[in-house]
Amino acid sequence: MRLSGLEPLIIRPETNFVNIGERTNVTGSKKFARLIREENYEEALSVARDQIENGAQIIDVNMDEGMLDSEKVMTTFMNLIMAEPDIAKVPIMVDSSKWTVIEAGLKCLQGKAIVNSLSLKEGEDAFLDKARKVRDYGAAIVVMAFDENGQADSYERRIEICERTYRLLVDQINFPPQDIVFDPNILTVATGMEEHNNYAIDYLRATKWIKENLPLAKVSGGVSNVSFSFRGNNPVREAIHASFLYHAVEAGMDMGIVNAGQLEVYDEIPKDLLELVEDVLFNRREDATERLVDFADSIKDNQSADGDSQQIEEWRSWAVNKRLEHALLKGIVSHIEEDTEEARKKHDYALDVIEGPLMDGMNIVGDLFGEGKMFLPQVVKSARVMKKAVAWLIPYIEEEKKKQNDTRPKGKVLLATVKGDVHDIGKNIVSVVLGCNNYEVIDLGVMVPSQKILDTAHEENVDIVGVSGLITPSLDEMANLAIEMETRGMDLPLLIGGATTSRIHTAVKIAPQYSGPVVHVLDASKSVPVVSKLLSDANREAFATEVKEEYQKVRNRHTKRSQSKNYLSLEDARENSTPITWREEDISKPANTGIISLGQLDLQTLRSYIDWTPFFITWQLTGKYPAIFNDEKYGEQARKLYEDAQIMLDSIISEKWLEARGICSIFPANSVGDDIEVYENESRTEVRSVLRMLRQQSQKRKGQPNRSLADYITPKKSGLPDYIGCFAVTAGIGIENQLARFEKEHDDYNGILLKALADRLAEAAAEWLHKKVRTEIWGYAPEENFSNENLIREKYRGIRPAPGYPANPDHTEKPEIFELMNVEKHTGISLTESFAMYPAASVSGLYIAHPDAQYFSVGNIAEDQVIDYARRKNMPIEEIEKWLSPNLSYDPMKKTEQV
Ligand code: SAH
Repeated sequence: MRLSGLEPLIIRPETNFVNIGERTNVTGSKKFARLIREENYEEALSVARDQIENGAQIIDVNMDEGMLDSEKVMTTFMNLIMAEPDIAKVPIMVDSSKWTVIEAGLKCLQGKAIVNSLSLKEGEDAFLDKARKVRDYGAAIVVMAFDENGQADSYERRIEICERTYRLLVDQINFPPQDIVFDPNILTVATGMEEHNNYAIDYLRATKWIKENLPLAKVSGGVSNVSFSFRGNNPVREAIHASFLYHAVEAGMDMGIVNAGQLEVYDEIPKDLLELVEDVLFNRREDATERLVDFADSIKDNQSADGDSQQIEEWRSWAVNKRLEHALLKGIVSHIEEDTEEARKKHDYALDVIEGPLMDGMNIVGDLFGEGKMFLPQVVKSARVMKKAVAWLIPYIEEEKKKQNDTRPKGKVLLATVKGDVHDIGKNIVSVVLGCNNYEVIDLGVMVPSQKILDTAHEENVDIVGVSGLITPSLDEMANLAIEMETRGMDLPLLIGGATTSRIHTAVKIAPQYSGPVVHVLDASKSVPVVSKLLSDANREAFATEVKEEYQKVRNRHTKRSQSKNYLSLEDARENSTPITWREEDISKPANTGIISLGQLDLQTLRSYIDWTPFFITWQLTGKYPAIFNDEKYGEQARKLYEDAQIMLDSIISEKWLEARGICSIFPANSVGDDIEVYENESRTEVRSVLRMLRQQSQKRKGQPNRSLADYITPKKSGLPDYIGCFAVTAGIGIENQLARFEKEHDDYNGILLKALADRLAEAAAEWLHKKVRTEIWGYAPEENFSNENLIREKYRGIRPAPGYPANPDHTEKPEIFELMNVEKHTGISLTESFAMYPAASVSGLYIAHPDAQYFSVGNIAEDQVIDYARRKNMPIEEIEKWLSPNLSYDPMKKTEQV
């Protein structure tokens, strides 16, 4: 038999059993059914791909569900499959009980597919008619043992029907016999009904008969049916499948629908279980069913027949050092305290356990991470094991310290998130990674003033100071810290990290302030080599010099580039604003006005709006969701991490770990120059607040405007009434309690996971609320209907620019939004002195609805705009320069020369 996708699949008599993947079947897989209903085709494709990776050589696709337009989804899905070479390489089994659906599928497929299935149910004519068409489409065919009188359930009926259809196909319409696959019905055994007891045996006998009497015909079947009465008990089901398949293949079964990822190996079925299973399959004893059911109940309770636990048993018998290493490498905490205690008793000093077996294990972890063979989530789990072990040993070490000289770790690093900033996921990851490498880390947490950082550095006699920040005002804070270090005459290395930081900024704005080494650390994996070089007597000087020279080059390049860049005068930039023809139909009156506090948001709803890609980036697993699951390098870890995330999300929701809240409002507004006036009411006479916008000033290519967000709101002078919205959401209420719990358990992994998930839920809340605003609250797009994927791609009309982001980089605009709606009172979100939102898992911004509105980056602005902006905001120029320091086209210290 020759089948093919992009690649051929040739089934010869000596060919091994062919696996047919069964997960792309809406009747058999709830998950796949949901994905298809939600039109989440991308993930549905990954289901197909997973099966092939798990060994399926053909995939069965079935869309038979009452609520689906089966022809249509079959067509869509098949067309999508055909565009994915890693899926299209295998032959497809088009599965439906409706001929029109089968035909819809066949029309999309290249290669040689199999139709599943036809039968004599509706008589010979109808059967042969369809069989001819199948042949014309160039497909093979599965024939069910079913006739006008119903399904064959005995040996005799099975062979009678198969023989009759074979003769019809081969003799009457010349159907190639090698393209006929019989499915002689695998039916459920052990149901308690006596007449079902021979179902398995009869299938096996019929298979043997077909292979001996109907030349070239093949035999197939859906294996999981046989064990259906044990659903919920996977160990027993897997044993039944393995045994049944073993005997069926022996009888001549060529292919079958099986879950290829879930098959026990026949030889590894525990012998007692195997005997019980085969008693049932071969109907060897009257009480066979009863005995297997009893056994199944017993293992359901302790799952002892499960292969995993056998493996667990095995490593538990190893020597203690080997067990510690295994626990560290695999991140298993369950036995760590008892194993650590056992190791402690074998050593003279508790500290020796840390410096011996535990550090040996962590060194392997560190090496594997360095070589890219382990991934961040694994490392963080390893660290959790390490911390638990160390916590167990601490009391003993304290005791011993009194007698011994203290031994120093490789070095002491002080870490902190700077004043005004609350974000610390990245910093926590660095802390874990350094800890794993035997550096002692003092973590001062978030919102730490320079004073405290430097005092602690002195008191604790640390070797390195590392600071982190996410929002742009933190950059200035870091520069101030560097100035302060210089003033104090310090010479400790200063490490700079966090999302808003960059090598350029570090080189241009921070390094020149301090004569000690200043190094930008891109991510956690880079922190170890940097710290190690800075602390090594042999390498420090050379490394510090190398970085200094490199940063000098960066500065030179930066100066050259900014000198060559042309900026328009503010006046000219305004002349070149976004050209928009104001039309009444582009402006929508909001369906609802006033401040709308949405109260507590439903986390279960928010969950479905999550954009997972940034979640994986947080964990340094780079790739787009869901394709990342199939990534060669990151796939396995991504899947595990995602699984952990799902489990934690379940708890977050069911145990109410977090509370999400939201608020929004749509106000009458018009633009006046680069300002947006927000009015008290529709009469537009009283100004409630003025939102100040910045404008791009760099010289553009011909035809490109110099944008400002104010351009998307109709000018007051046009006489057209317009509107602007504001919003704030958080998903971080209550997070502190849970974090404290994880901290107590030395569980960084779950702490970081929780923070990352809270961030995801906050972004999901922003997405959800924006949609609600477009469809209901403002209501300018009541009919829109985008998949989550398209929401993430921002396919909808309108934008939600956030202050501090590129289109309005000024964080001091945030308090305006907070005051307009009394955000703090309604949601519990507050602003720090740098205008970071607390809890960290919060988002706020504006809603702009004009169809032409788009995101952009203001980029650098010139001094004339800073002067104008300071005047509009009624703030000192120096203060504006401080807040916008990353966006200045000039050096405020050398202003006079530049102007
Ligand atoms: N799906 C993403 C959404 C966050 S990033 C996630 O879950 O992480 C996209 C958001 O950032 C936008 O909706 C907007 O609020 C903000 N944003 C992006 N680019 C911006 C820009 N240039 N100016 C202002 N805000 C911007």
